[in-house]
Amino acid sequence: MPINIGDILKEQYKVCRKLGWGHFSTVWLCRNLSNEGPTYVALKICKSAQSFAVVAQDEIKLLRETKLIDPTHIGYKHIVQMVDTFKLVSVNGVHTAISMEIMGPSLLHLLIQSDFRGIHLSGCKRIITQVLKGLSYLHEKCRIIHTDIKPENILIKVDENYIKTIISKTEKFTELGIDMPRSYVASDCWIDKDKRLGDSDENIISKFEEQRGQSYPYDKFLGELTDFKRRHGEPRLNAPMWVSPNIEIKIADLGNSCWEDHHFSAEIQTRQYRALEVILGAGYGFPADIWSVGCMGFEMVTGEMLFSPKGEESKITNRDHLCLIYETLGGIPQYITEKGTNARQYFSNGELLRVNKKWLRIWKIEDVLVEKYKWKRVDAIPFAGFLESLIEPDPALRLTASMALQSEWITMNE
Ligand code: ATP
Ligand code: MG
Ligand code: MG
Repeated sequence: MPINIGDILKEQYKVCRKLGWGHFSTVWLCRNLSNEGPTYVALKICKSAQSFAVVAQDEIKLLRETKLIDPTHIGYKHIVQMVDTFKLVSVNGVHTAISMEIMGPSLLHLLIQSDFRGIHLSGCKRIITQVLKGLSYLHEKCRIIHTDIKPENILIKVDENYIKTIISKTEKFTELGIDMPRSYVASDCWIDKDKRLGDSDENIISKFEEQRGQSYPYDKFLGELTDFKRRHGEPRLNAPMWVSPNIEIKIADLGNSCWEDHHFSAEIQTRQYRALEVILGAGYGFPADIWSVGCMGFEMVTGEMLFSPKGEESKITNRDHLCLIYETLGGIPQYITEKGTNARQYFSNGELLRVNKKWLRIWKIEDVLVEKYKWKRVDAIPFAGFLESLIEPDPALRLTASMALQSEWITMNE
């Protein structure tokens, strides 16, 4: 639906700028003009086609449950909460709108910001711990499977002052009668920043120098690095990137979620984060989300995906994906390869079909971290062990969110 900055929706939400978009929706930063509820919200406006409307209703139902079931649970605050929901009518039809608590950039933005070098292990631990808390709430209390855990759907909290800065800039454009930068209405607020009203070069550089190698609040740094690069080329930062110790995240996008006892689809998850049992068509449950957390944990520290099979959705992609899993795990137990509606297409007697064993190179996570990413082995061992317990091939043996929170890597002091 055509949305303009400055529009007032439902006589309550003033549109300030675009925050992001997905397959089903566009998401806008809005100021809440009523006295009730938070001052700023993210407004998700779903596409109008009937099929999108049905999905939106499911998402609302799921969001409502997660909001009500148990606000005292430790994971409650790690799920993005819905504020309000209503309908909007446009030339295209009826759109479902969901207002949610406002969040900042996603973990994908954080990875982009690190130039895909990844973030420091201590930051990764803080993030993964919070994701697991959120999942322990979704799984154990709400009986909901998220089904789309990936960096893009984990959002970082930013403080209200930061939101205000973004908004005051937008208002300044209006006040001065300057055309709104394209990025404000057409793209993702956290990447393509327009710096016309930004700091002077000198300021940015000195701030950058000051912060180099130190721990800094992520949101303050955001944009500055991009700007620095635009002006001076690639900075020589030491990988990996630090994140603020008080980073707080929440799990977003329940748009594809389902209940333990009521699935919507046999195939779930974004390809690279898809669990082994889903690929094999062996049924799925909460453990599928845990697999995705394992993939994401690796990606957060290395900047590279754990499994990145060729192509999108074909048998060839599945076979490639299974080879990658086989190589990383050092094999897949035969009883696992015999379960699932797709299993016989890819395995026979526990061996991968149409794959010459000579092509496979067993490369366990611990060795990948040491050989490719130059980690010290003492650091690689506990982290690799933790990740392996999340990508355990047997979903029945895989750690649950609560068990993972008790695991040695999470609880040990550095
Ligand atoms: P998908 O194709 O991933 O299913 P979708 O249409 O369901 O997308 P979301 O993933 O919910 O939409 O949101 C799209 C983007 O909008 C997110 O990736 C994020 O950048 C931004 N966004 C979503 N919710 C919020 C929020 N509460 N606060 C800030 N930004 C948000
Ligand atoms: Mg999404
Ligand atoms: Mg979605």
